[in-house]
Amino acid sequence: MVSDMTTSQHGFSTRAIHDGQEPDPLTGAVNVPLYLSSTYQLQGIEKHRGWEYSRVSNPTRDALETSLASLEGGASGHVFASGMAAISALVTMLNAGDHVVCGDNVYGGTTRLFSQVIVRHGIEFSWVDTSNPENVCHAIRPTTKLVHIETPTNPLMTLTDIRAVAAVCHEHGIDMSVDNTFMSPYFQRPIEFGADIVMHSTTKFLNGHSDGLGGVLVGTKPEHAETFRMVQKCTGGILSPFESWLILRGVKTLAVRMRQHDANGRAVAAFLAQHPKVSHVSYPGLESHPQHDLAKRQMSGFGSMMSFEVGSRANADKLLQAVRVCTNGESLGGVETLISHSATTTHAALSPEERARIGITEGLVRISVGIEDIDDILADLDQALQQL
Ligand SMILES: *Cc1c(COP(=O)(O)O)cnc(C)c1O
Repeated sequence: MVSDMTTSQHGFSTRAIHDGQEPDPLTGAVNVPLYLSSTYQLQGIEKHRGWEYSRVSNPTRDALETSLASLEGGASGHVFASGMAAISALVTMLNAGDHVVCGDNVYGGTTRLFSQVIVRHGIEFSWVDTSNPENVCHAIRPTTKLVHIETPTNPLMTLTDIRAVAAVCHEHGIDMSVDNTFMSPYFQRPIEFGADIVMHSTTKFLNGHSDGLGGVLVGTKPEHAETFRMVQKCTGGILSPFESWLILRGVKTLAVRMRQHDANGRAVAAFLAQHPKVSHVSYPGLESHPQHDLAKRQMSGFGSMMSFEVGSRANADKLLQAVRVCTNGESLGGVETLISHSATTTHAALSPEERARIGITEGLVRISVGIEDIDDILADLDQALQQL
């Protein structure tokens, strides 16, 4: 849905609560209703009220698309059945023979999609360490049409300078897309630094309650709106009205949740950094993070994602079995603290050598700090670490 009339110049929290979500004109309902209708009554041949068939558009989904476009500062939002469905839609912009420069440590599912599926359709990929913009520059070919990055990366929290990479892209007339899942638009808005397209797995912080999958593409150009609307209609991998409604509900509290995630994240990082059983913590909010200054420039908070080293797989296993408040599980961005072993979950598809090359050791543990009472999270981590 293109966000022309229904977005505002208000502050972030006000937009999160109101943009795309005017009271229902028919009943005055303050919340956007859950429109469970596959089809809509027409008023004559080619005459409709804006909706005809729910694969093409649905009022609940439209409200969410307007909301997310507003929060990222883009022109249009397009939601899909999962984050992976959104990334799949992104690459339908490309034609056989086109080339993509992609971060070499993006989400594992993205790597799998590009290198095992999309590559078979005649699209070529170069995998580069985008934390150095020079590497992006060197990888660009005459056929390059897209540069896709993720910042910070999972789980080592390596940053890419969005402004610097966007400058390289624009010099060559190439679109830049950013997977902004880890920070949410509350802490990082890539379009403000020159990115052309922002992608999220809404499954994570945007929904925030670990109860639904979803993905979004926010575009900045009319051709993005046209392409992404077309692919929603043609492939049908759209987000259901119910999941759209859940995310609308989640987004209303995004600002307060993110502030608490950030406060708890900083406290957990500081605690782990001084803990005798932990040899290293990767968190952009720590001064020890090699890109701490860049983090301060392009993010307005540090969030709650981090990873830390406990020395061995056996230690990681003990820790994950000993936690009581934290839950050993994949995914991230929910209100609950989730803790996981990267080598055997998100990065299981890589060979041990590939993992070693990017720094994912057997003793590396990732944590998505939730918004429980911080004292309970710290006490839980402490008792679990004492058992190593
Ligand atoms: C989870 C995730 C995805 C994939 O999203 P799904 O909703 O699981 O399909 C993509 N990128 C990042 C950074 C993620 O964390």
